[in-house]
Amino acid sequence: MPELPEAEVVAQQLRTNMLNATLIHCWVGRMDIIREGAESILWYRGAILKQVQRLGKSVVLGFVRANELRYIVAELGMTGLLLFRSVPVKHPQHVHVRLSFAGTEQPELQYWNPRRFGRLWLLNEKRLNLYAARRFGCDPLSVSREDFLKLLHERRGRLKPLLMHQQVIAGIGNIYANEILFRAGLHPNREAGRLCESTQLKLYDTMQIVLKEAIADGGSSVRDFLAPDGTEGQYKRRHLVYAKEGHPCPNHCGQTIGRLHSERSSFICPRCQSKKVSR
Ligand SMILES: [Zn+2]
Repeated sequence: MPELPEAEVVAQQLRTNMLNATLIHCWVGRMDIIREGAESILWYRGAILKQVQRLGKSVVLGFVRANELRYIVAELGMTGLLLFRSVPVKHPQHVHVRLSFAGTEQPELQYWNPRRFGRLWLLNEKRLNLYAARRFGCDPLSVSREDFLKLLHERRGRLKPLLMHQQVIAGIGNIYANEILFRAGLHPNREAGRLCESTQLKLYDTMQIVLKEAIADGGSSVRDFLAPDGTEGQYKRRHLVYAKEGHPCPNHCGQTIGRLHSERSSFICPRCQSKKVSR
């Protein structure tokens, strides 16, 4: 499932390859893939791609035409991909939108999504702000230390659900939450508001390090994630606990990686991520 690093890799490749290209045609195979703004689709014809940003796990394309800025937001969902035309797709019937461009070496961007959990949104500035305000909390890569600490203090509840709560911290899903907590030596069920300050700072630093390393490695190709140019993310090779049940703990503590009984998707080392508070 694409998370922040994968969405960032997509945004980076689109920035490198497609900025200032002109959108000349939008083909939509099924209209229900456009969640909002379908009636404005003709506006985009002739518009120039001026910016590409990432919000949480979504990729936002900013187009300019006649001094107006409008956006196409692509949610990657469980399995959504944005691919250049040169990349062969496994099941072409799942390409729901094709955006054709002039003025770039990549003449087409395909939105491929077999499970249709993700959607496209065509939004003006005001609608984009509303869209973002409803969905996304702070960004884990740009939030300051002070704001992150404040956010932990203000929140009750367990650490892992907090890290994955998009309206609090936008972009982290199950893979990276598992990796961050293991590297920070924290049990997923620890109370966020009760961590001492040095532990909170360690969590902050680990979160940024893991996400940045994953971006540098092209993300994690779990469930068929591919970058727009078709390359696989290599970070999967560096996962320490995600889907590593039964493997020896990478810290060589003598334990094996297990799963939490209550949450089958939480992978932990029972020794390195003790639930007890160490002081
Ligand atoms: Zn261990």
